[in-house]
Amino acid sequence: CGIIACVGSDDAVGELLTGLENLEYRGYDSAGIAVQNGNNIAVRKKAGKISELKETIASDVPNGSVGIGHTRWSTHGPPTDANAHPHTSQTDRVVVVHNGIIENYESIRRQLEAEGYEFKSETDTEVIPHLVEHHLDKGMDVEQAFKTAVDELDGSYAVALMVDGEDKVYAARQDSPLVVGVDDEAGRFYLASDVPAFLDFTDEVIYIEDGDFAEVTPGNLVLTDREGNVVERDVEEVEWNA
Ligand code: GLU
Repeated sequence: CGIIACVGSDDAVGELLTGLENLEYRGYDSAGIAVQNGNNIAVRKKAGKISELKETIASDVPNGSVGIGHTRWSTHGPPTDANAHPHTSQTDRVVVVHNGIIENYESIRRQLEAEGYEFKSETDTEVIPHLVEHHLDKGMDVEQAFKTAVDELDGSYAVALMVDGEDKVYAARQDSPLVVGVDDEAGRFYLASDVPAFLDFTDEVIYIEDGDFAEVTPGNLVLTDREGNVVERDVEEVEWNA
């Protein structure tokens, strides 16, 4: 299973699919991507191989420079198209990929369902987009809504999130790997569960720590720690023997 995200790319779909293929070695049963496509987010997902996802996309390729992708190794809900990531909120304005397990998803789901949120999958992950939307509905901004939602999760997670109309990816991690790839000259960033996902594009890496939040826009990366302080982490060059 794995996560890939790209920000500021010339061809988000192409880079996401390359990233997903580079993560295939981790094992997966489903795959999917989401791309900022003008005023809405285009989501394509499929149980089965990445080649099947590619066939689904080929007939209608979303255009964009910011996107998130996922290879799934199911823990909650069988490998079906509906259970594949990305997962979306009620209005589809919040889109999420997640690796790991949300231990307290059942109680969160029950609360949200009681408030009228309708779930489309059997995954633990789907509580995340709904929870963020719930906080947005209450008047929080996206950063606040995301951080508040993540605070409510127990378990392990690497999460990447996009919101309609923003060329931005938000991410958080706890006991699940997540690294940032940096292409300084082009002002591009990548997020992934493992370095090989983006090595075709850059070998400059920032290792983010448990509890860190990342907010990534073309040309700009902001990392904050659990207390909300902006943190600087070193950029390291990967030694890679292919
Ligand atoms: N627990 C989530 C699911 O079953 C994520 C699994 C993963 O890490 O791929 O969908």
